[in-house]
Amino acid sequence: MSPTLSRENYFLTVINDLKNHHVEKGSMEHDMQELLLDLAETVKNKNPINQSLLLAINMLFERYQAVRLKVSIIPTLVKSPIYGSNDERNDEVQQQILFHTEFIDAADQLKRMYMESIISLLETMEKKGLDLQKCIQCDSWFIPYQRAQITKFCSSKCRNRYNYVLRNITKEEKVYDYSEIR
Ligand SMILES: [Zn+2]
Repeated sequence: MSPTLSRENYFLTVINDLKNHHVEKGSMEHDMQELLLDLAETVKNKNPINQSLLLAINMLFERYQAVRLKVSIIPTLVKSPIYGSNDERNDEVQQQILFHTEFIDAADQLKRMYMESIISLLETMEKKGLDLQKCIQCDSWFIPYQRAQITKFCSSKCRNRYNYVLRNITKEEKVYDYSEIR
């Protein structure tokens, strides 16, 4: 079994927060932001990943090797198999091996955040067909509920807000039309 490298759907958290990050043009972080957005747009538009995007992702993985393998031991206490024995001296400590990965850089570093985002997006895409959309009210990226047939909004709050604004615009137009007639 290959270990999971990233937190599930971590890319959504990061991609919706990109506007608050300040990165210099030409920096690796800037390139990573663009890669993440390119990949997300590709998924949103249900386009196949093209060769140049694939190449760019693999070049990034070569340039920044963010993840290393790690093996840990978890001691677990196994109760004595002797029936009715409550004697702790008969209990056995066994070792359970945990094989996993870890990021080299700290969780608050942008390059690490972007790397984990790209990986989490790829891992989600690998597992299942991913439906990724952007809210037409607030511009946030979101994964719609499977039951929702047509979704344009990330939340009911955004849907209500959008309809409220739309209603007011329609009202204003009506007032305008009326004065025109007069
Ligand atoms: Zn929204």
